[in-house]
Amino acid sequence: MPIGVIAVQGDFAEHAEVLQAAGFTPQLVKGSRDLSGVEGLVFPGGESTTQAKLIDSAGLRAPLEGLIRDGMPVLGTCAGLIMLSRAISGGRPDQWSFDLLDVAVLRNGFGRQVRSFEADIPVKGLPATIRAVFIRAPVIVSAGEAVEVLAEVSYKFVDGTRRVLPVVVRQGNVLAAAFHPELVGDGRLHSMAFGAAFSRLL
Ligand code: GLN
Repeated sequence: MPIGVIAVQGDFAEHAEVLQAAGFTPQLVKGSRDLSGVEGLVFPGGESTTQAKLIDSAGLRAPLEGLIRDGMPVLGTCAGLIMLSRAISGGRPDQWSFDLLDVAVLRNGFGRQVRSFEADIPVKGLPATIRAVFIRAPVIVSAGEAVEVLAEVSYKFVDGTRRVLPVVVRQGNVLAAAFHPELVGDGRLHSMAFGAAFSRLL
């Protein structure tokens, strides 16, 4: 099953490797021609401000939005989650997002680079925990009713307050994580995102 990995910026190569290992065929997407034949999409981690600009200038914004609104399965990680979200705070004032996942996010909401952290967390639907690597990750500050929370993390902020925050969410065909499963070679969220579509093809 060919899966398009948005390859304008960020850790798309790691996603491609994980997809390959999970039995999918990654296809790097740098322009709209690269979308032909893909059955799913990955929005990688990286820098969402830069990704937004480059997706626009590559002419990818409208075709991607059309495919996802038509039901193509999608996985977004970290900056990819930001790209899919409804609303962004802590971004540039002109930063746009696809509004395909009814969440509001705060960029770098866990704190600065030094506050990057890892945790083993359970994810609904997975038998074993996932090693979640958070790097300048977004905080999901609110989620609409249609959004299902599949994983949460309990996090102590610098000011000492502890909060339980959603970190894996799903809304229909859109699955997103605030962390980076691709950096630890874990393809289970990819299989979760694309598995249903995959079995339809068999
Ligand atoms: N802080 C980045 C952003 O706002 C996301 C970081 C990441 O993808 N690791 O785009």
